[in-house]
Amino acid sequence: MGIAAWREQLRKGEVSARELTDQHLARITAVEPEVHAYLEITAERARADADRIDAARAAGDALPALAGIPLAIKDNLCTQGIRTTCSSRMLEHFVPPYESTVTERLWQAGAVLLGKTNLDEFAMGSSTETSAFGPSRNPWNPERVPGGSSGGSAAAVAAGECVAALGSDTGGSIRQPAAFCGVVGFKPTYGRVSRWGLVAFASSLDQVGPFTSSVADTAELLQVIAGEDPRDSTCLKAPVPDYGAALQQPVRGLRVGLIKECFEQQGLDPQIKATVMAAAGQLEALGCELVEVSCPRFNAGIATYYVIAPSEASANLARYDGVKYGYRTSDAASLAEMTARSRSEGFGDEVKRRILIGTYALSAGYVDAYYKKAQQVRTLIRRDFDAAFSGVDVLLTPTTPTTAFAFGAHAEDPLAMYLADLLTIPANLAGLPAISVPCGFDPQGLPIGLQLIGNVLAEERVLQVAHQYEQAAQVLKQRPDAALVP
Ligand code: GLN
Repeated sequence: MGIAAWREQLRKGEVSARELTDQHLARITAVEPEVHAYLEITAERARADADRIDAARAAGDALPALAGIPLAIKDNLCTQGIRTTCSSRMLEHFVPPYESTVTERLWQAGAVLLGKTNLDEFAMGSSTETSAFGPSRNPWNPERVPGGSSGGSAAAVAAGECVAALGSDTGGSIRQPAAFCGVVGFKPTYGRVSRWGLVAFASSLDQVGPFTSSVADTAELLQVIAGEDPRDSTCLKAPVPDYGAALQQPVRGLRVGLIKECFEQQGLDPQIKATVMAAAGQLEALGCELVEVSCPRFNAGIATYYVIAPSEASANLARYDGVKYGYRTSDAASLAEMTARSRSEGFGDEVKRRILIGTYALSAGYVDAYYKKAQQVRTLIRRDFDAAFSGVDVLLTPTTPTTAFAFGAHAEDPLAMYLADLLTIPANLAGLPAISVPCGFDPQGLPIGLQLIGNVLAEERVLQVAHQYEQAAQVLKQRPDAALVP
């Protein structure tokens, strides 16, 4: 059931906030041993918050937009007084003294925190396998990864362990797990949503966004979290439109661009290609015009990202020095040794790999050849999108080249894991809003995601097309059976 329907029931008193929270806590108890979406479950706080909502309703107070809606939050968003680990030993015992802007806005809107969800360590990965606290499993098939890095948030929504969740997306970490878990995942325009209190990975790319079971619910969450924040200098001042109203606009006459380079990818599963093309056909049936467009530098996205993101990560992660916060080694003879050992013991292999690559790419003598060059290519990728948007309203691609892969599939080959981000990364490099919506299933019963990319601040357009597609296609009505998906 969607947020609007729950709100109606809560308002009418057909269900109480406490009942809604208890239902979800019971579901968590039932499926967590298999799914492991959560790192921490805040049951006591959730019940207390829900009781407060019920008391407010009983007193006749007007309820805010998300009153009583139980949510899960990726564990790289700071929650005051509640551990925020980034799935890293480095922050295993870190309790933030402040609240992130996005979560603060959710609690002000009456939402209830169920717990913090698992991720790849510091959001570096595509499967949750780099989490220091063990991976999450895909509710459609627990032998498969849920995707990453926000895999816990995606799995929690898919398994019915929360109504919706927040994640973060630096190179695809919302859209890819959403595609793998058969839910909706949305990365807004860079700067649309505040990152105050989001633990930084790559600051020119990071953006917070929702995981939901419908596009309408995505609009509900975005409405609450979007907008100016004086505490984040990269947050845009642009006014926040009514996203819910945008959903209802018919799509007839809109031009939908199919990025040629995406459909010609060698590693693209033919089943995904066929399913996404069929989804494009459905938009055509709704009156959209399909146009083939070319983004010649699209494929350079991966190489560009894997210089820029590790470079920024190496700078951002320099703060974990064993002194200011986080893990500190137990015995060291000097300050230098203490820092070195704290970092060696506190960070996992993937994080170390990124720090080493980034430090190298930024070092004197190499910064022009790597970092600067990558920034130049990034500009070219952005220009390809600018050219494409001169002729179309929205761009359409598959979200991922394959469906959810098996645990360990890329264990020996980090590059193979990186290549899987091919279709999601360009929207981050260009700062564009992009959504993944379920569009079908492969023969093994695993979900397939359709990606829609919009121009800067064209959230309304992206949500409108995604919603109209979702309503027409009713993909989840033909879903295969999966024991862990309600
Ligand atoms: N999978 C990509 C990476 O490993 C993207 C991660 C993300 O968006 N946080 O960097």
